[in-house]
Amino acid sequence: MRPTGKLHLGNLLGALENWKALQREGYECFYFVADWHALTTDYMDTHQIKSNIVEMVTDWLASGLDPEEGVFFIQSRVPEHTELHLMLSMITPVAWLERNPTYKEQMQELSNKDISTYGFLGYPVLQAADIIIYKANYVPVGIDQAPHVELTREITRRFNYFYGEVFPVPDIKLTEFPKVLGTDGRKMSKSYQNAIYLADPPEIIRKKVSTMVTDPQRVKRTDPGNPEVCPVFSLHKTYTSVETQKTLDRACRTAEVGCVDCKKILSENLITALAPIYERREKLSQKPDLVMDILIEGSGKARQVARKTLEEAKAAMKIL
Ligand code: ADP
Repeated sequence: MRPTGKLHLGNLLGALENWKALQREGYECFYFVADWHALTTDYMDTHQIKSNIVEMVTDWLASGLDPEEGVFFIQSRVPEHTELHLMLSMITPVAWLERNPTYKEQMQELSNKDISTYGFLGYPVLQAADIIIYKANYVPVGIDQAPHVELTREITRRFNYFYGEVFPVPDIKLTEFPKVLGTDGRKMSKSYQNAIYLADPPEIIRKKVSTMVTDPQRVKRTDPGNPEVCPVFSLHKTYTSVETQKTLDRACRTAEVGCVDCKKILSENLITALAPIYERREKLSQKPDLVMDILIEGSGKARQVARKTLEEAKAAMKIL
């Protein structure tokens, strides 16, 4: 995960909950702070990287991800990633990178930033190194990341074809995740100022939920609403009991319940569900060194694995 700072409900439901499930299922997992990747789009302003790392990993821990059960590390503290990235960049045709859909999309969307750089074009090569340096069997991502994993597979096959079978070709492990909607009804995202953060105290959650958009057709309190198009209801689906959901669904369609009351139920349920995370986060935020210590220790562990793989890859390439 790129170190973008505090995490929101979208990150929790779309990423962290899936990561926790992998831990429960007994996979050996590597979770890393992709700080080099943060530079691909934000190289002009790097002053927040360190605090963003601490905030983000505090949220990983607060959400119940366990550093004893997996390896937490910082990409830049395992320099073998960059060395393998260089080796892979030698064998990766530029055309493969130019047809990456995310590259094309971001070049258009991020028109306020100059990302026509060598580093940005090549970030999937770095991702390939990030994955195969641990001889990973699976990459747990959503469907939007499928083209990246496919590129990793192609680069891996190409390496193995030239120099011998050093790396397993990793498979995508598709994770189903809900698209969590933000307070304005668009996808919840830090860039849209529509996010509810794990670090938000109860009064902020109440305030944010109270400003959420609802069914746009329901203008007056007496108008019947349609829960299927309501962002508030989409969060009820995760945070409210099935029983209450049914009641609210009916009461919305018949205008028996108004949006204000419906939102109050949601914010109380959200606050209850997030309370353990919030409390753990509060405790952790008093010990910022703890987070860094975990990352430094994890980076040492990751490095042992990475170094071994890199030696094999260099030997195969006859670079000694
Ligand atoms: P942001 O859009 O806030 O910058 P990121 O792109 O850094 O979020 O996302 C980090 C992780 O969280 C990714 O795995 C992404 O799929 C997941 N994620 C982000 N926003 C959402 C959302 N609204 N719904 C579901 N998952 C999300």
